[in-house]
Amino acid sequence: MAFLPFYISRHKQLKIVIVGGGYAGIAALVTFLRYMPDVDITIVDPRSHHLKITHLHETFRYPLQDFLIPFSALERRFGCRHVCAMLSPQEETLRQWQNDKFLVVNGEILEFDYVLVTSGSAVAKMDKAENVFDLDDFMAIPGSKLLSNRLDTSKKDEQFISVIGGGATGIQFLFEIAHFLRRQKIEGKLRLIHGMDRVLNQFTAGFSAYAEARMSDLDIDFHPNTYYYGQEGDSIFLETNGTGQKFSLPSTISLLFLGKKTETLFFTNVFGQVMVERKPLQNIFAAGDCSVYQSLGSDTLTAQSAVRKGKLAARNILRHSGSFKLLEPYLHRDLGYVISLGPADAVGWLALEGNVVGGMPALMIKELVEAQYDLLLTGIDTYLI
Ligand SMILES: Cc1cc2nc3c(=O)[nH]c(=O)nc-3n(C[C@H](O)[C@H](O)[C@H](O)COP(=O)(O)OP(=O)(O)OC[C@H]3O[C@@H](n4cnc5c(N)ncnc54)[C@H](O)[C@@H]3O)c2cc1C
Repeated sequence: MAFLPFYISRHKQLKIVIVGGGYAGIAALVTFLRYMPDVDITIVDPRSHHLKITHLHETFRYPLQDFLIPFSALERRFGCRHVCAMLSPQEETLRQWQNDKFLVVNGEILEFDYVLVTSGSAVAKMDKAENVFDLDDFMAIPGSKLLSNRLDTSKKDEQFISVIGGGATGIQFLFEIAHFLRRQKIEGKLRLIHGMDRVLNQFTAGFSAYAEARMSDLDIDFHPNTYYYGQEGDSIFLETNGTGQKFSLPSTISLLFLGKKTETLFFTNVFGQVMVERKPLQNIFAAGDCSVYQSLGSDTLTAQSAVRKGKLAARNILRHSGSFKLLEPYLHRDLGYVISLGPADAVGWLALEGNVVGGMPALMIKELVEAQYDLLLTGIDTYLI
């Protein structure tokens, strides 16, 4: 059993419920097992599979199945239990759980010592016509199939594909689609609609310049400062930011990448304990995209932060259950972020946000980061910090 500083076990087998088996939940699971191999863990998640969501845009090249790991396989690998259910606790429920030390799922009473909520964040939604899709659709149907079903491959006149949202997710999908159309020799005109003046506007200008130059190489039309407000038949309705001028364009299929909903966020203290009315719930922790840590650490909606928060919350739960109750503050800073631009290109930052890297070096960093997470899924934790 590995050594965890400031943790002296009280030799009680802990019962842990993890709500959500995504990146933060899996990172916590592996961490618990590392320091307490006989821990009793139940993962509550409405899906039957853990989804390696950071690869979702690659389903234009690879089967969706490649990025799904059945929870039944994780049960066998890690000796945990998966309960297929959705729990969407509000603050009052969390306070109730803290008092009761049990929760009810599918009519079953689950007793626990600690709960860790890692339910991620939901995809922002708009009303959709039948030829409009969003991230949730790609979680059910591979990108290649979704486009092939909708586009007429024999058509010689142009079909239009509109990608809405030029943030990290929208851009990763945009480039995969551009390459997919080329590989499949589909006559399709691709365009990006984005509400801001440059793509990837949450990053430094170097990111935008690199990505926009590649978009131009691939003949992708870019409509900056433009809002999408609906689709009817094969027309998309848009509005220019600032002037309010409304117009429409032909669009055979539209793909919405509007970001995440931030309504179910749990505010925690610096150790990951959920705060309700400014007091920490001692046995209820949160990590990943659904959490906001009141600390100096990175609160970005990234897999890196989710993994680091999940690991920290698990370590702190163990310490809290031990003799000292001396917890560790969350101080992790993201070391970089890479956005893929199709199968052979990427742009990202490394060490400092202004340190922009493009092309093969960026792609290699991304591969390394993904490989590190794949190892974690086998139970091997190579994250140094
Ligand atoms: C296409 C794409 C590419 C990305 N690429 C990168 C990247 O390259 N690098 C990076 O750092 N980040 C990337 N991200 C962001 C990253 O994936 C997220 O920040 C990360 O997955 C957050 O981890 P999480 O555990 O908080 O949530 P998730 O991984 O989303 O997991 C949440 C889990 O909770 C479950 N759940 C949801 N609601 C409930 C409920 N009510 N009850 C129980 N369970 C529930 C879900 O089924 C899911 O299994 C990408 C995201 C997308 C969509």
